[in-house]
Amino acid sequence: MNERHDTLPEAPYLAPPGSTRATSIHIDGQWRAARDGRVREIIDPADASVLTVVSEGGRADTEDAIAAAGRAFAGPWRGTAAGERTRLLERIADLLQRDRADIALAESLDTGKTVEEGGIDVDDVTGVFRYYAGLADKDAGRLVSAPEGVQSRIVYEPVGVCGLITPWNYPLLQLSWKLAPALAAGNTCVIKPTEVTPVTSLKLMELVVEAGVPAGVVNLVTGSGPEAGAPLSEHPGVDLVSFTGGLATGRLIMAAAAPTVKRVALELGGKNPNIVFPDVDLDTAVDYALSAAFFHSGQVCSAGARLIVHEDVHDAFTAELARRADAIRIGRGQDEGVRCGPLVSERHRAKVEAAVARGLEEGARVIAGGRRPDEPGLRDGYFYRPTVFVDCDRSMDIVQTEVFGPVVTVERFRTEEEAIALGNDTDYGLSGGVWTDDTARGERVAAALRHGTVWINDYGPYFPGAEWGGFGRSGIGRELGPSGLAEYREAKHIYRNLAPEPQRWFG
Ligand code: NAD
Repeated sequence: MNERHDTLPEAPYLAPPGSTRATSIHIDGQWRAARDGRVREIIDPADASVLTVVSEGGRADTEDAIAAAGRAFAGPWRGTAAGERTRLLERIADLLQRDRADIALAESLDTGKTVEEGGIDVDDVTGVFRYYAGLADKDAGRLVSAPEGVQSRIVYEPVGVCGLITPWNYPLLQLSWKLAPALAAGNTCVIKPTEVTPVTSLKLMELVVEAGVPAGVVNLVTGSGPEAGAPLSEHPGVDLVSFTGGLATGRLIMAAAAPTVKRVALELGGKNPNIVFPDVDLDTAVDYALSAAFFHSGQVCSAGARLIVHEDVHDAFTAELARRADAIRIGRGQDEGVRCGPLVSERHRAKVEAAVARGLEEGARVIAGGRRPDEPGLRDGYFYRPTVFVDCDRSMDIVQTEVFGPVVTVERFRTEEEAIALGNDTDYGLSGGVWTDDTARGERVAAALRHGTVWINDYGPYFPGAEWGGFGRSGIGRELGPSGLAEYREAKHIYRNLAPEPQRWFG
């Protein structure tokens, strides 16, 4: 390892660069290599060097993991008291905080985000485990009002074996939104973390073991989507598949899950409007618009990548936005003062560059960024400058298609109706923002937007207790909140006749 990579916390499942052996698959309580011995290099996006090496699991490894999860579900785990599951989840939360600094650094090295952002992720993930620890032993079911002589009750049971598939942008965070409620409800799991940034998912697996979750209850297979991931949607031994990722993959997963009619939960992309009325403080609105668009270099499903600005303030707003975008310090996520790290991979940066080229062809105009940085120290990494497009309209591909990079488009509007129509003119429906000093108008626009989360005079916050998910093609189901637990529970109706007597229906 080079000097910088010595900072990646040492772990038995992470092999050093150059190694041909790694043991990052966790099945039935054991770390092991891929059946066919393949490995994958994990790249530091800040300089394209090899950060570590992990096992490249395939279909057979995932089938092993599904079998282990099935055995664990049939075993004593089913009878574990809800209070014990609460204790385990609390313990995982405590361990996350104990190792906060290591995890924040690992997430930064792997994804490119700043270490500060990595630390925020660990705190958010801790909060999610604590939230579901709190819910696990509440609400065991309910009595239903029934005729005399009958007792009718609803009990909640785990769904069974759950396949959890995650993306590369918030690998630890997105995993926690699935794993915490799945365990709270008493399921067993097979995790297929993103192949691009799997390091902190492996760390979480280690903490799950240390917390005392029994062998086989949580299993993890590193590897590609089509090989290690696909069995989780196809296999009859999996009862639920929960996926966060792109729309195209979501479609594949839903189709692959159809023959076995398993439960499917999808958290897909977004192209999220951020609407600015002229009555707001522009300094504040520009500040939040920058964070909405460029936090984690725009690689955020809920990024406010589509600004919709009233024509009276459009020119002043965009000039200031461009000025501040040009001033954003980009660099390694581990360096002091850096606000934007690299994009996650060379392939992903090429996709962002292609989207920008398309935007220019369509007639949109770049007033900030639109290129790689000039600094020689950043030449080897996958950096791209925060980019602002003006002269945009709703018909353009750059306005409609998710770029998932540091690119924001700006459209103009005149009336409230027009702003709402533009905000809803998307196939997606994940999130949106509205900025206005007029309380009634803020509420009207929030009510009219067809998006799963709407922020009024803010952009981005979420809470473990508030449902997250999309309208339209942003997905199916909800994560977080009580609904996030309901995804992992079956409701069973138990009807007891307290005094059965012959009915003589058939004489
Ligand atoms: P992706 O769809 O390429 O991959 C996501 C995961 O699916 C990876 O683990 C991948 O290996 C796996 N996969 C790929 N093909 C598969 C298959 N055939 N069967 C099973 N698994 C398969 O997405 P990505 O590029 O990692 O993530 C970016 C996307 O995720 C963006 O579109 C973003 O908007 C979305 N996202 C959504 C949310 C949300 O909460 N809605 C959060 C984060 C990211």
